[in-house]
Amino acid sequence: MTTRAEDVQSKTYQAVVIGAGDVGCAVVRSLVNSVAPVSLTAGSGMGMQPHDILSGCLIVDQNMWPLMESSAANAGIIHTGFDASTGSIEQSCMQEGARLVHKLHEDMTIKSPSGHIFSEPFPLDKKGGSLLVARSEQEWIELKTKIVPQASRNGVEVELIEGEEKIRMIESNFSPSLPIFGGLLIKDEAQTDGFFLPFFLLLQALHRGASLLLQYRLEEATFCPSDKLWTLSFSPTSSSSSSSSLSRVKVRTHFLVNCAGLGADSVDRVVRSELSRLHSSQLLPLVSPLV
Ligand SMILES: Cc1cc2nc3c(=O)[nH]c(=O)nc-3n(C[C@H](O)[C@H](O)[C@H](O)COP(=O)(O)OP(=O)(O)OC[C@H]3O[C@@H](n4cnc5c(N)ncnc54)[C@H](O)[C@@H]3O)c2cc1C
Repeated sequence: MTTRAEDVQSKTYQAVVIGAGDVGCAVVRSLVNSVAPVSLTAGSGMGMQPHDILSGCLIVDQNMWPLMESSAANAGIIHTGFDASTGSIEQSCMQEGARLVHKLHEDMTIKSPSGHIFSEPFPLDKKGGSLLVARSEQEWIELKTKIVPQASRNGVEVELIEGEEKIRMIESNFSPSLPIFGGLLIKDEAQTDGFFLPFFLLLQALHRGASLLLQYRLEEATFCPSDKLWTLSFSPTSSSSSSSSLSRVKVRTHFLVNCAGLGADSVDRVVRSELSRLHSSQLLPLVSPLV
């Protein structure tokens, strides 16, 4: 599944994604679909040498496996954004994310004329909804006075459930010692497998030609305005040094996508320190869209 450091060394990619968490896996799949038709073409029109061959997408993570950081904890709820601030980026990301997951599931499910499902790509339970439980009087008041009105502003259907007994009837797996003051049923929230879905997206990307490099960490980025290319330098994380003889991997790319989760600020610093070195006219190529 992974690519050896030796095989990516000195290659030129259309896009490099930093971070193989939930976000990186989804982004690389979508990029592969966008860039595939022009991959493997010589980039003579882009200020590149004729021998430079664009190699599609590369996704890099510092860990031994993908999905090991925040994504490892993902409970798999497909959120509606019921409690997000109306009009916020958080709300639109959640709404768009949910739409994409439902669409992907639908597109990939093959039904016979009798309605039998032949292949279900990843589990998606659309019926249960999710339950937000108030564990104190204060949380119960907050549910009623803040969260329900916010859900209504966001156009998300919710139902207040009063009393511990009703909550325990809906969800019998709560520990008997958990204090329950009431809860909120968010009807349209679906549930998937929080590991399998992003892993499935990553596998699809790899199947369509993306490369995955593990146990390397982005250390440096330099931009060459004449080539319009970034040169990225990765160093092995301690546990990977035995698997490759390379102490540094260098690749070139047109686009660098920061999906580093909690490490995103440090990736951003690497990129910004390079950008601050460049004259504004040299930065112009950076605003060109990928698709
Ligand atoms: C307990 C818990 C439950 C959750 N439940 C849900 C839920 O039900 N539904 C939901 O939608 N969300 C849920 N979330 C939130 C969700 O898990 C996160 O929003 C999501 O995993 C973030 O993914 P990410 O790809 O941004 O980050 P990450 O998973 O952290 O991925 C970032 C990756 O970047 C790599 N990286 C960082 N810096 C570098 C570098 N310099 N070079 C190379 N690689 C680098 C890291 O190794 C990491 O693998 C939950 C979170 C928690 C903690």
